[in-house]
Amino acid sequence: MIDVSHLKKFYGPIRALEDVSFHIDRGEIVGLLGPNGAGKTTFIKILTGYLQPDEGRVTVDGLDVQSHTRTVQAEIGYLPETAPLYPELSVQAYLQMMADLRRIPDDEQLQCISEAVYATGLESHLTRLIGELSKGFRQRVGLAQAILHRPRLLILDEPTVGLDPMQIVEIRGLIRRLARQSTVLFSTHILSEVEALCDRAIILINGQVKADAHLSELAATANAVLILEREAAGAVDRLRHLGQVRAVDPFQGSDGYPGFRIFGEPNAGDGLTPAIYAVAREQGWPVRELRQDVRTLETVFNELALATESAPTQEDTMVGEVVS
Ligand code: ATP
Repeated sequence: MIDVSHLKKFYGPIRALEDVSFHIDRGEIVGLLGPNGAGKTTFIKILTGYLQPDEGRVTVDGLDVQSHTRTVQAEIGYLPETAPLYPELSVQAYLQMMADLRRIPDDEQLQCISEAVYATGLESHLTRLIGELSKGFRQRVGLAQAILHRPRLLILDEPTVGLDPMQIVEIRGLIRRLARQSTVLFSTHILSEVEALCDRAIILINGQVKADAHLSELAATANAVLILEREAAGAVDRLRHLGQVRAVDPFQGSDGYPGFRIFGEPNAGDGLTPAIYAVAREQGWPVRELRQDVRTLETVFNELALATESAPTQEDTMVGEVVS
């Protein structure tokens, strides 16, 4: 549905986006994750046709955003970082105005507004002035205007920023429900937001895509952890001589059981744990636990951020595959 190809954007000497490329399929919910200043808002403004790239192109359903801006915008529901709300208007008057601005035909407006109000749980707030609403409810109004014209693609820039924990849970639930009808791309600098909402993350750091993968792929490592019931003579050597093993690090588990962290070669894939299990059976080791080691998204993110500081080329640190 979205194709981003070699996108570049500079603000004078600031390289906000550097050769950004990826693809998003219909029905996906994708988190664009990055620290402050990573280029998320710049990217979203280009995708929604509010900013021109210096190089590269973005297409939505095959249409170039730059040359078919209006047509593409009609397919997109956009919640900017600061929603364009009018505090002196009631929720109802505001949604009515947005329906007019979106050129929704008169005979469809009531139905569209009702659907958006119902989806965002604003039924009991229709006559309230926007300026009197809590931040969480204002964000709901922002979401309601974004889905008013039944867009197939929903783009949300930091949708929970500034909300309290209860409001965050509510808005996330809302986004999850909206994702049943639309493809969703949202930006955030909050790692748990990505874990809570989506399967796939695109990590943007310093204007470059540093990772693009399903969360399980990002978390996966080529390493395994083996814990035995008791010491087994020669276990380290035996493990070290398994194919695809780079190193073995014995450790004492907190409960006193002997453990081994087994580092696989990068291409070891899923084959390492079955190989360890086979050798453990063959040697008669009393296995207490055997698992593939996983990383948290936070670890992945920190590793990528560190790698960016020390080796700023995109090819060096790209993780995962573009998921099509
Ligand atoms: P945040 O999470 O803080 O909103 P972001 O990931 O959305 O950050 P951008 O707002 O896209 O990042 O900014 C990317 C870089 O471009 C930053 O270094 C920012 O200072 C710079 N930048 C953004 N807009 C402009 C502008 N209009 N003029 C000059 N520099 C800009």
